[in-house]
Formats: sequence, C-alpha cells, structure tokens
Amino acid sequence: MLTLRKKIAEALEGEDLDLREISKLFGIKEKEALDHLMHIAKSVHPRHLIAEPASCMQCGFSFKKRTRLNTPGRCPVCKSEQISPPRFKINIPEKRAAQASP
Ligand SMILES: [Zn+2]
Repeated sequence: MLTLRKKIAEALEGEDLDLREISKLFGIKEKEALDHLMHIAKSVHPRHLIAEPASCMQCGFSFKKRTRLNTPGRCPVCKSEQISPPRFKINIPEKRAAQASP
C-alpha cells in the first residue's frame, strides 16, 4: 500500500504541480502538501526534484534564489501580492527510460 507521500511523489513524476494543486488532488491542506514536499525533496536526489521558481505576476520578478518551497507572500521589487506559486516536478531519468513505451 502506498503512503500519501509516495503517491504525491508519483504524481510529481508524471506532471508538474504547485502546492495548491497537490492539496486539491489529495484532499489535504497546502501546509500539509508543503510538509510532504519537503520530505520528498530530502528523499530524492537533489537534481531530481525540479522546482520552477515562484514569480511575480505584476512585474515578472522570479524568486530564483529562494530555497523555501512555499509561495512567497509579496514581491520584493514591486510589492505586489500577486505571486504565481512555484511548481514542482520529479525527474528520474532511469525510471523514465524504463517506462519508454506506454
Ligand atoms: Zn513584482
């Protein structure tokens, strides 16, 4: 039986998701999704968890240097609170090769 965390990891291997999408998909709070994600991030090879940084919808500022996984509250450049959340994906090359045929 798969644990919830394993299921989230598997979902991320198939498509990129943000915290809100993960929370909706599994019926959990965003805070819980973040907690699972942080554990997943520690358990997979660092290069395999791909995080597309959060960005400001107002001015396009990208939160590239941010290491925390949650969504920033406010843009440091234009102070907008319209922030597009970071998206996550797990990229495991060996596994992808093994699943080459559908
Ligand atoms: Zn901005």
